[in-house]
Amino acid sequence: MVPPPDAQIERLPELLATLPARERELAQRLFSVVASEGTIVPPPEMAPWLERVFGSVEATLRQRVVRVTNRWTFEGAAFNSLRAHRPGVSLSAGGAAPSPEVRARIARATDDDFRDPDHRTPADSFGRVRGHQVVTAANVAKADGWHSLLIFDRHDPLAIDRALVADLLRVAEAWAARVRETDPEARHLFLLWNCLWRAGASLVHGHAQVTLSHTMAHARVEGWAAAMRRYAVATGGDYFADLVAVYRALGLAATDGDAVWLASLTPAREREVDILLPAATGDPEELPLRALAAPLAGVLEAALGQLGVTAFNVAVFGPPLGLAAEWVGFPLVARFVDRGDPLSPVADVAALELFGSSVIASDPFDVARALAE
Ligand SMILES: [Zn+2]
Repeated sequence: MVPPPDAQIERLPELLATLPARERELAQRLFSVVASEGTIVPPPEMAPWLERVFGSVEATLRQRVVRVTNRWTFEGAAFNSLRAHRPGVSLSAGGAAPSPEVRARIARATDDDFRDPDHRTPADSFGRVRGHQVVTAANVAKADGWHSLLIFDRHDPLAIDRALVADLLRVAEAWAARVRETDPEARHLFLLWNCLWRAGASLVHGHAQVTLSHTMAHARVEGWAAAMRRYAVATGGDYFADLVAVYRALGLAATDGDAVWLASLTPAREREVDILLPAATGDPEELPLRALAAPLAGVLEAALGQLGVTAFNVAVFGPPLGLAAEWVGFPLVARFVDRGDPLSPVADVAALELFGSSVIASDPFDVARALAE
């Protein structure tokens, strides 16, 4: 379902009030939504600047800020669309192809070690996993006991298509299976994909990474699992099912095959899209990441095409490999965020993002419209 044309994040409290009783109740149970109004009193000298940057002085005098907090994960975001116009802001410009300067920086970085992984990157103790266009390498400076690179054949990190995404996920699955042959205690898989320096990639050449952890998943994944368990105990409900029901009712979610994507109301950074796929109940050794290939490729296609995103982060995770009763009901997940203009001199993460809530300029309803097309 596409959101109605007049649906905007600024009107979220009103939109929630119009939901059917059950979804309204679930929304109330899942989220705190607080709208507040901020006012400014600019001196007349500021008028030309305000008009130039924000379109009109009027638009800046009274501003609505909507703050959404997930009551179970305690993820939260403050939305104010005016911030999209702020100088040095970090939201990618819609529809724009990568700028010539970004293209040039990608082209200048071709003499890198990922050109020749066999001779210029280390292998894991069990060797390498090779796909059609992705090969693994051991990470030189690891963030976990098992931490490897998934190096793309293609240098251009923006040359992304469905075949590449499918191959990447297949290779990550095969890599995890190889790790578990030598270390069965390693069971929490986390795939991370940082595209361009702006998104934290130290090398431009297309690549992703994967970790397989003992004992605990990465902290924020554990946070989601803990929320699911607390929710079940406190309400008797299915956290992820109820979450999807609210997003669907708002027009912020849609089905893609067996998966559902949602335009996050509590994004970590701009334009977060989460893809949820109910975990298979079959072989616990099997984490069918490849089932996420089509929906994830679809999100990336819309982001890189229509929304003009170039710098982005993706994470893929799910329940642990092997039996784990406390993770039953946890889906396979892919999270995507836009990291904005790669040439911006201002960081898009600051004290509020690190220690408070995300401050977000993009509208989840616009993200949902872009994805629905
Ligand atoms: Zn390269």
